Amino acid sequence: MSVEIIRDVTGIRARATELKKNNKTVCLVPTMGGLHAGHLSLIAKAREVADHVVVSIFVNPKQFNNPDDLKTYPSDEEDDVKSIEKEGADVVFIPSVEEMYPQEFATDVKVTAGIDILCDAHRPGHFGGVATVVTKLFLQVGADYACFGEKDYQQLFIIERLVDDLNIPIKIIPAPTVREKDGLAMSSRNARLKKADRKLAPKLHKTMQKIKEDIHNGVDIETACAANQQKLESTGDFKVEYLEVRCGKKMVLMKELGSECRLFAAAWLGGVRLIDNIKL
Ligand code: AMP
Repeated sequence: MSVEIIRDVTGIRARATELKKNNKTVCLVPTMGGLHAGHLSLIAKAREVADHVVVSIFVNPKQFNNPDDLKTYPSDEEDDVKSIEKEGADVVFIPSVEEMYPQEFATDVKVTAGIDILCDAHRPGHFGGVATVVTKLFLQVGADYACFGEKDYQQLFIIERLVDDLNIPIKIIPAPTVREKDGLAMSSRNARLKKADRKLAPKLHKTMQKIKEDIHNGVDIETACAANQQKLESTGDFKVEYLEVRCGKKMVLMKELGSECRLFAAAWLGGVRLIDNIKL
């Protein structure tokens, strides 16, 4: 059976009601298209946890703080639908911008935890846009589960807070970061890397691995981050936005290793912003 495409809120609501009536569970996989193996791993996970899988494709203008980034965001609906179908999802929900944000739309969802740090410090308003669209998708799809990638760890953190705070009856399922063979974290924006930059891109992950190794060998966090950042930036190709160790449930900035620590990084390479994080 081929995957069903639904483009309107009434249609996805009707499907949700019908599934509830038949006691079927639903898992939502929200995406912005430009699908790669990272997205497909979320669909595979969704199939394990629920009877029915809905993948949404919506390039959410509210979460772009840079108009050029929005204009050039890589997404090919036909290709995306083909790979979603191949992965065995049941429905692709592809609302238009007008369907999601009609002219009179006037609500913002704002989570006040996990902000002012990492990506939020550099992309003001981004997570507000994410929280708003994700809340809408949760309510529209009526999902019991939703899968999110650890690649966007701060996003995952904010969405977990949102679901708890608003008592949304949905279970968030995190999934590990899927990488290219050379270690580069998969991302739709990688398609924008020029050939030479694509070759350099794995240096970010290698640098992060080296920082991890140094810290475990007793080098203090600040020194390990600063020395390796300097090396990464020395050729002039990379410009680091942040390279930080944060730990625990509140993602506190750390000078010494604590429990549940991760190294977070964002860096620009040839006009493309790469983000990554690894467990320490
Ligand atoms: P996006 O289309 O970039 O908004 O991402 C949609 C979902 O896929 C989010 O939950 C992301 O965290 C997740 N995702 C993106 N890249 C990866 C990856 N390399 N590995 C695992 N999940 C990913």
